Amino acid sequence: MNPKRALLLGIAGIVLWGADHRGLAADSGRSGANRPERPNIIVIYADDLGYGDLGCYGHPSIRTPHLDRMAAEGMRFTDFYSAAEVCTPSRAALLTGRYPIRSGMCHNQYRVLRNNSAGGLPAEEATLPELLQRQGYATGMVGKWHLGHLPQHLPPRHGFDSYFGLPFSNDMMPAPDAPKGREKFFAEDNAFWRTPLLRGTNVMEPAPDQRQLTRRYAEEAVRFIREQRRAPFFLYLAHTFPHVPLFASDGFRGRSPAGLYGDVVEELDWSVGQILDTVRRLGLEKKTLVVFSSDNGPWLIFNHHGGSAGPLREGKGSTWEGGMRVPGIAWWPGRVPAGVVQHEMATTMDLFTTCARLAGAPLPQDRPLDGVDISPLLFGTGTVSREAFFYYRGSTLYAARLGSWKAHFITRSGYGPDKPVTNSPPLLFHLGEDPGEKFDRASAQPEALLKIDEAVARHRATLRAAPSQLVETTARTN
Ligand code: MG
Repeated sequence: MNPKRALLLGIAGIVLWGADHRGLAADSGRSGANRPERPNIIVIYADDLGYGDLGCYGHPSIRTPHLDRMAAEGMRFTDFYSAAEVCTPSRAALLTGRYPIRSGMCHNQYRVLRNNSAGGLPAEEATLPELLQRQGYATGMVGKWHLGHLPQHLPPRHGFDSYFGLPFSNDMMPAPDAPKGREKFFAEDNAFWRTPLLRGTNVMEPAPDQRQLTRRYAEEAVRFIREQRRAPFFLYLAHTFPHVPLFASDGFRGRSPAGLYGDVVEELDWSVGQILDTVRRLGLEKKTLVVFSSDNGPWLIFNHHGGSAGPLREGKGSTWEGGMRVPGIAWWPGRVPAGVVQHEMATTMDLFTTCARLAGAPLPQDRPLDGVDISPLLFGTGTVSREAFFYYRGSTLYAARLGSWKAHFITRSGYGPDKPVTNSPPLLFHLGEDPGEKFDRASAQPEALLKIDEAVARHRATLRAAPSQLVETTARTN
């Protein structure tokens, strides 16, 4: 089927399904109990924001005073990872606490869309909002979903009481008369894009003005916090930007020394300020954990419209550090100590486990979980035990980190024309001494390689037989 026709049918399905399921949120079950000892939780997730794109991570010309203040009042992680190098698997990992290979969500949904597949986050996956909902939390999502655009996969089917946002990336439905290829990305013309805006499961606007999205997301988030201030709440705000095409509202466009990319990030920073100010004004700061991160590294092939991985190598799409190590900031005045730079490794998958524990929610016992409870790191009370971190590209394991050593079994640039290269022996880098992954130490460190091999073998033993949807792909999408 023609991909555009397939998408239109999918959107029609969303509208029809939504008409029949408007009572879903009201039926989700709510204890009504106000349990102040359990924190409110806000996760703010940027899209394609690089490790080096914030002032507090060293960017010289993007101004991020609100995120810098958040870091100064809380904890900034230097070794914080998304569990994937592109959008869809990263989001699956965040919400399930598991490597995307376990859920089958290890490839981007753009491919699924083009093939008219009914693919999306499987219903049997346990999501963080589902766990929190059962504990009486109000759960809201604002922003980009990208875990399946068909009705059966949208946020209200995965534990969110409310949803407002785009079902996938902002570049996935160009207008028919938009220029072909890359030209439309640099044109800064909203008329070239028609990604629908949903509320719940209904299409509210088939082609929203993307220049207003960051502001509208912030307003929705603030409204949700105000409305739910008396009950414990979970808010997942997944920004559309700085994924290309870039758009900022009039108040920010043309203002940043870092150009349009800077304008966009500075507006995101403003929106973080709006949220933290709301939390403070409502007197909720002593019982609200806020975490800020990004789904993957910067999309470097978009030149000045892509971000920066700072000192890290490569970017989005790759398993070099720049593809998966991202900003990570935690804020909870009175609980998370102020001004701490945390060098211990942590991942977005840990947020699943940590937030469930903080909410008193039982963790699923019938499946492997990869996130660990990082409360001791967050609260400065101790360390956590972690086996290793594994870098997948799609369903293929490319690299693994154990302590400061990282082995690359396969290497490939994020979006370049190069083919995958299998390294034998693997390349080995010391990420403390060499965060830019320049100096291969494999020949001098056979013991480090051996220990990583053993960790990989233990990890592989926990994987089920690959589900049918796990297929190798060379497609590099967004
Ligand atoms: Mg992304």
